[in-house]
Amino acid sequence: MSSVVEQLRDMLGPTAVLTGEDVRCRPAHIGVADGYGAKAILRPKNTEEVATIMRLCHETGQTIVPLGGNTGMAGGAIASENDIALSLERMQDIEQIHVLGRTMIVQAGTRLQTVQERAEELGLMFPLDLGARGSATIGGNIATNAGGNKVLRYGMMREMILGLEAVLADGTILSSMNKVIKNNAGYDLKQLFIGSEGTLGIVTRAVLRLRPLCKSESTALLATDDYNHVMTLLGYLDQELAGTLSAFEVMWNDYYRLASGGGSDGKTLPVGLDYPYYILVEALGADPETDRTRFELVLSQALEKGLIVDAAIAQSGNERNNFWAIRDNIDSLLAWWPIIAFDVSLPIETIEDFVQETRAKIRNTWPDMRSVVFGHLGDSNIHFIVSVGSDEPDIRRQIEEAVYSAVAQREGSISAEHGIGLEKRAYLGYSRSESEIELMRTLKRALDPKGILNPGKVIPTP
Ligand code: ZN
Repeated sequence: MSSVVEQLRDMLGPTAVLTGEDVRCRPAHIGVADGYGAKAILRPKNTEEVATIMRLCHETGQTIVPLGGNTGMAGGAIASENDIALSLERMQDIEQIHVLGRTMIVQAGTRLQTVQERAEELGLMFPLDLGARGSATIGGNIATNAGGNKVLRYGMMREMILGLEAVLADGTILSSMNKVIKNNAGYDLKQLFIGSEGTLGIVTRAVLRLRPLCKSESTALLATDDYNHVMTLLGYLDQELAGTLSAFEVMWNDYYRLASGGGSDGKTLPVGLDYPYYILVEALGADPETDRTRFELVLSQALEKGLIVDAAIAQSGNERNNFWAIRDNIDSLLAWWPIIAFDVSLPIETIEDFVQETRAKIRNTWPDMRSVVFGHLGDSNIHFIVSVGSDEPDIRRQIEEAVYSAVAQREGSISAEHGIGLEKRAYLGYSRSESEIELMRTLKRALDPKGILNPGKVIPTP
């Protein structure tokens, strides 16, 4: 009897099945150059081939790890030598665009950036945006319910998916390619596959919801002297800019100093270094002239009210990019390696207190600890990065415990936008009740009775 890999090679042809060095040369996970762990990577070219693969794997009990752009932050695509990975890299077609209906049908292996660019060519926009846009795939964005920089206005990936097609664990093709915004005809089955990290099915195609392209962007970097002012400012801008506010990204002083380089390379900083909080705000509109006037007026009123103490408004696309480059300069953290990174959500009024308490707790054991805080505060989501000079499992566990117990106390989420994957599985109970986790297990058993889809991810073992 030939092995499953050999049978798959016979069924799909040699180019569809990679083994040996062709697998090993790919990254084990994000931030690692190579060493991908699976015994093979399958590259089907259409949905029928995905169904063929799943039927054989279901029959033989072979485990499958879905692999997108491998840019996930929670280890959701990590594979062991017993697993076979399934990549849709040969399924990158944009199949249909409907300009009036504002929909785009794509295969799940299509890169996010390709979708963004195609939409823009037609005067439309696909509003999901994140740093890994050049590598991340639509299938991966769906599987992880990706967030990013414009969630405040457009929501997460879930809000941008009208329909999808998925292959179930037993090879059944489930077509749910809905194109209309309103559809209450029974259960919304696509939601089973959005954010379930490849544990309930393989997403193969999707109907994306597009939006009109905004003709104006107004961007500013602001400083405040008080966390209460940060919160008041969010409500104020959201109201005064009439729903056009698309980003409200906050950097605590430590992150701003690190990510901006502190002016050490002779570059002038948009705003001085001594404020406790920095806020990158952006509004998207339809009329560059009037939008800009309104934006400046609202900010000058915020200054008069004392909500902000300093401000720089981007005068060109170049300046706008420079502001965003500070916010996105996570590479500045490389100097602190190894780091332990958290992606948590908390009720906004508890965030500053959470930051202070957690830092004090960690500093008690590691007096030299360093940390930075930044993130999508408009979505109550922060990225909290800690460095204590080691990330050995025992140290990591102690720090995770300190952070996640403080999140649970405040009824927040241990994963705001990165997912659970392998890394946070043990902590799912900090954000989900026992009955919620039990229902997740029931769904998993119903859709994947043999447990072959992305085994060991998301749901903790009882
Ligand atoms: Zn983020």
